[in-house]
Amino acid sequence: MFADLHMHTTFSDGTFSPEEMAQAAQRHQLACVALTDHDTIAGCARMAAECARLGIEFVNATELTAEIDGVEVHILGYFIDLVDGHFLANLVKFQHARQQRIHEMAAALQRHGVPLQAEAVFAIAKCESPGRPHVARALVQAGLCRTMDEAFERYLKKHRPAWVPKFKISAFDAIELIHHAGGVAVIAHPALNKCDDIIPPLVEAGIDGIECFHTRHSTAASEHYMLMAEQLGLAITGGSDCHGMNKGKPLMGGIKLPVSHVRQLEARARAIREKALAA
Ligand code: AMP
Ligand code: FE
Ligand code: FE
Ligand code: ZN
Repeated sequence: MFADLHMHTTFSDGTFSPEEMAQAAQRHQLACVALTDHDTIAGCARMAAECARLGIEFVNATELTAEIDGVEVHILGYFIDLVDGHFLANLVKFQHARQQRIHEMAAALQRHGVPLQAEAVFAIAKCESPGRPHVARALVQAGLCRTMDEAFERYLKKHRPAWVPKFKISAFDAIELIHHAGGVAVIAHPALNKCDDIIPPLVEAGIDGIECFHTRHSTAASEHYMLMAEQLGLAITGGSDCHGMNKGKPLMGGIKLPVSHVRQLEARARAIREKALAA
């Protein structure tokens, strides 16, 4: 009985629809999945329905981009209440910032002599949470780059001509927003963000877990964060960060988190809700 708690669909920068993602989970014999689209929970209802049809447990979630002291950290929120108005209003703010950033990236490309219109990016993204992968796809489709990798290397990576910093909320606010929506907050792929120094203040702020297992975590990194989670009394999570096809096959299946960890995460969510009711 295994879970994968990190994946993105067409509702953000993935290429599978929520139904296709659920079907991929079935092929990989996963017992439980969470949809963690960037800055949106709009795909959750559809994926929940398909998972129910397939007999797979589904967890509502999202991935927020946050920071402390200039250090970027991605915060996953699990067991989010899908109708929490305050949470939804904040997601809309983050989505607008993403859309504004697409306009800024297109303008930067144009200044650099690359004739890409923001509208071409929106036409490809067809979602409220567009990101750099959509700009890369638009560059490829317009024949301005051969591959997405080339688009990132030439234009979109940090400090390249069309790189525009992303709007980030404070990690403290991210944790509070997630808790307010009945969810649990988890540090995503810490090895990728090299954010160990900010883990103590995150613990102080009530972070609930660490994503110990991730496609791009080495075995040593996973063990390092498992030990840290145990020492700090935090939940252990893991996920593939599947965005659809990657070099011919999806990343899904690469991470197999025992579902017992999902039960512990769920118990924490229940405790947060009970505490909110008692307050
Ligand atoms: P953004 O949220 O707009 O900054 O874009 C970040 C996303 O870009 C991440 O989800 C990555 O999956 C993706 N990404 C980063 N580097 C590359 C790359 N070289 N090729 C394809 N996708 C990338
Ligand atoms: Fe992504
Ligand atoms: Fe991330
Ligand atoms: Zn992700």
